[in-house]
Amino acid sequence: MPETTATDRDLLAVVRRLAAREAQAHLVHPVMSAWTDEPAVTVSIRVRPCPVCGTRPGGPGVVAPATALRPVREVRVLADGERQVEGSALLVSLWCEALTGRALVPLVAQGAARAATVARTRAATVAELHGAGVTGLFDVLTALDAAEEPWSAPGAERWTLPAATRYRLAGAEGRAGGRPAPGSVLRARLRTSFASPHLADPNLAELADAYRAYRLEVAASALLG
Ligand SMILES: [Zn+2]
Repeated sequence: MPETTATDRDLLAVVRRLAAREAQAHLVHPVMSAWTDEPAVTVSIRVRPCPVCGTRPGGPGVVAPATALRPVREVRVLADGERQVEGSALLVSLWCEALTGRALVPLVAQGAARAATVARTRAATVAELHGAGVTGLFDVLTALDAAEEPWSAPGAERWTLPAATRYRLAGAEGRAGGRPAPGSVLRARLRTSFASPHLADPNLAELADAYRAYRLEVAASALLG
């Protein structure tokens, strides 16, 4: 492995903070003495056209099974110009990305505590930073780290969801010549990204490996106690 420079070490430190935060978010657990008949939180999702790949609302939608997002009562992708569901927690995402149901758990926790919460996905945050002229990898990741930091603070109103993301395949992309695309093609397309499906930098593959390894390490040590 080549000797790292101070900048590389700084970059790695930020990536490790992001990885640790996602691992901690995966380990959010319910209050065991509570019982609810019905999930209490509604999540409204405001999807934005992606400034990089241009994917925008209006293409083929994805319908999740009704059980996919428990304990969320309802997840509603808002139509253009539609107001968010009253009292719901709001998530701003890009149209081209897909998150797991588990990634929404911090949003549900904050939504239960304070309905005014507004979260952004990492990819939506990165797109906003790019739009504001912040483009260097270290600057982007440092700003992302700061935006995400309040995720577990009681009553946080604006924060970034600590979750890796992946590109959401549109209907035709998963198929080649009418047949499902080869698994290797799909795997490459669906590989998770710790910041954004579109963040491009020569350092990124190495950092992504470091992210995955450290996320696993943090989760494993927490589960082992
Ligand atoms: Zn995109």
